[in-house]
Amino acid sequence: MDDSGNNMRLCRVPLCPRCFMKNRGKQTGIAIKRTFAGAANENMAFLTVLVPPTTDLKAVDPCMGRTETRLRNMIRNRRKTDPRWNTVRYTGWWEMERHDWKDFHGFGRNKKLAMESLGWPQFANRHDDTVWQPHLHAIVCLGGVSQDEFVEAVRAKGHGSPYQVNLKAFDHRKDVGNNIKSLVRYSMKFRIEADYKMSSAKLSWDGTALSLQRDWWKDKDIRDYVEWLMSKRGGFERLRTSVGGM
Ligand SMILES: [Zn+2]
Repeated sequence: MDDSGNNMRLCRVPLCPRCFMKNRGKQTGIAIKRTFAGAANENMAFLTVLVPPTTDLKAVDPCMGRTETRLRNMIRNRRKTDPRWNTVRYTGWWEMERHDWKDFHGFGRNKKLAMESLGWPQFANRHDDTVWQPHLHAIVCLGGVSQDEFVEAVRAKGHGSPYQVNLKAFDHRKDVGNNIKSLVRYSMKFRIEADYKMSSAKLSWDGTALSLQRDWWKDKDIRDYVEWLMSKRGGFERLRTSVGGM
């Protein structure tokens, strides 16, 4: 609150729980009421694109930029010859996952293949390095374009590694608004802990109280990540990208 006590000032740090919840609510509203208003489950899909993992956070911005440009150009080029692409639009959110270098050995088959072909870092002796693994989630309105066509177009534009691109149909049993809501939630995870789903969370007893052991990222990684988040355009804006939406 400011000095008068009437106006709330927001810090806009994506790792601030209050700003995070507020922003996610806003993004959900824009997606449902504006960007995808009137859309039907049949024309909607959820896109995930993996990009090369890296130990250098400075490499992430150029990589995000290249990916966003490629997707934008792909849609623009298709529109020149095929009017069905005029109705294609999407809103996406970048998500950052972190791993220890040695985590690679524990990945499942598909993730191993994907990370290997995207250039999982190879080291001589720096095995304690953090590997940052950015990826893009996007809610897509396909209009008259089929899911296969869309995936093939994305893959053909520099995203052809195994399991690099995934497109999932909307759940037809659920209302389209609810689908969008849960996908915005999923895309904008509060992610500075390894097991954010808490599937393997441990309960511990210290003699007086029961507490949940959460697996937070290392302090250094949280600090590096928030510095990176706040370094350009600032906070939430740098994580969001769209074509033909808001
Ligand atoms: Zn805040």
